Amino acid sequence: MSHPSTGLEVRFLTGSQHLYGEAVLAQVAEQSRAVADLLNEGGEIPVPVVWTPVLTGAEEIRRVCLEATADDRCIGVVAWMHTFSPAKAWIAGMDALRKPLLHLHTQANRSLPWGEIDMDFMNLNQAAHGDREFGFIEARMGLRRKVVVGHASDPGVRARVATWARAAKGWHAAQTLRLARFGDNMRDVAVTEADKVEAQIRFGFSVNTYGVNDLVAAVDGAPDSAVSDVVSAWEDDYVLAPELAVGGERRDSLVYAARLEAGLRSFLEPGGFGAFTTNFEDLGGLRQLPGIAVQRLMSDGYGFGGEGDWKTAALVRVLKVMSEGLPGGVSFMEDYSYHFGPGEPKVLGAHMLEVCPTIAGERPRVEVHPLSIGAREDPVRLVFDARTGPAFVVGLLDVGDRFRLVANAVELVPPDAPLLRLPVARAVWKPAPSLAVAAESWILAGGPHHTALSTAAGLEVLEDFATMAGVELVTIGPDTVAAAFARELRWNDAYYRIAAGRGR
Ligand code: MN
Repeated sequence: MSHPSTGLEVRFLTGSQHLYGEAVLAQVAEQSRAVADLLNEGGEIPVPVVWTPVLTGAEEIRRVCLEATADDRCIGVVAWMHTFSPAKAWIAGMDALRKPLLHLHTQANRSLPWGEIDMDFMNLNQAAHGDREFGFIEARMGLRRKVVVGHASDPGVRARVATWARAAKGWHAAQTLRLARFGDNMRDVAVTEADKVEAQIRFGFSVNTYGVNDLVAAVDGAPDSAVSDVVSAWEDDYVLAPELAVGGERRDSLVYAARLEAGLRSFLEPGGFGAFTTNFEDLGGLRQLPGIAVQRLMSDGYGFGGEGDWKTAALVRVLKVMSEGLPGGVSFMEDYSYHFGPGEPKVLGAHMLEVCPTIAGERPRVEVHPLSIGAREDPVRLVFDARTGPAFVVGLLDVGDRFRLVANAVELVPPDAPLLRLPVARAVWKPAPSLAVAAESWILAGGPHHTALSTAAGLEVLEDFATMAGVELVTIGPDTVAAAFARELRWNDAYYRIAAGRGR
């Protein structure tokens, strides 16, 4: 599917004031251009940082913020007060700004010229207090923002700006995301339910259901040429089980699975959908539960959730947009079974079928096996072990008066022994700080069994995204203590009720 990065940008705003005179303002402009150049030169930031002429008055600041808000290319604004910019001049602009904000607290020079420093130098390099004036008005107005401190030549500083820009890309994608559900939620399941209208108000994405027979028509109507193109792509990318290869006794199953992919594409692409859900309880005239078709579409960038889980489908899509260009991948995932010991406790994660090959650590195999749930033909699926390394899982739930994101830092590890008889793609991980504390905390938070697993972007991207959305995020990591985590949840209950309607 199309990737939305092209043509996107962040704006770089520099604050100052007229008091300094034209000569100093010319230097300010030159230095702020140099800072924007440094941000771009590192290559970490996924979109161009576009320099804007130095701002000195309330009306031009308001105008620039309105323009940034109105421009669909602009996914966020970086602000820096090079000198002292009296912050009342920023009130109208910040009130008008409806794009993510990053306050870069930096300075043109990295080092102080100790031996040569005079008052001219001091008057030109005032961000140390100019940015504090801006920080006051941000706090006073309750602006949602990220603050990054340091010199723009520092890769660590650029990495934090880049993470924010990735979160802003995800936020931008969420605003226009259209999600198609084939059928409703799995019957009687609670956690996959939520308020779709509130989700659209809060995150921007729209969720609409289509009768599964609309999909059946697309699948049955897919041209044979499109189906054979899908089969060829699978033959190039994966290892086919002999029974699915040309002349194999179950070749028909493979061809029908390819028809599912061609049909799904012919429905999703013209509809402008970026995510979708299926429900094994409601397959209408589909002969197989879509397995490899869903896995392929996820690897192309689509969000997906099983059993009608649109919240997780949207999360998978947003994380995929945030992760573009990074090594690793993002998948729909489910905590499936535990290994409590011997040895270090671990989670075995998988789903009935739908795990994304972007997290694979080996060339996936195409296999066909019975599905113990449902009464359809055996579905074709990709089977693989996930690549090992650091990752996180994140779930989204509706706690009644708000949404909550629950995240856990995990380490993907090899299985203790080869999983010779498990016919689905899977990941094995050690949750931080331990399985016991992580699962206790996750369950205290009401975290869902479905998650998005990311081996690409780190947890900071979620923190930035949650700030942009004004949504609660609780993170379980190496320092988590379950009792303290339980208190955080109770404090958050109070905070989000008191803060409702505040902040912008
Ligand atoms: Mn499930």
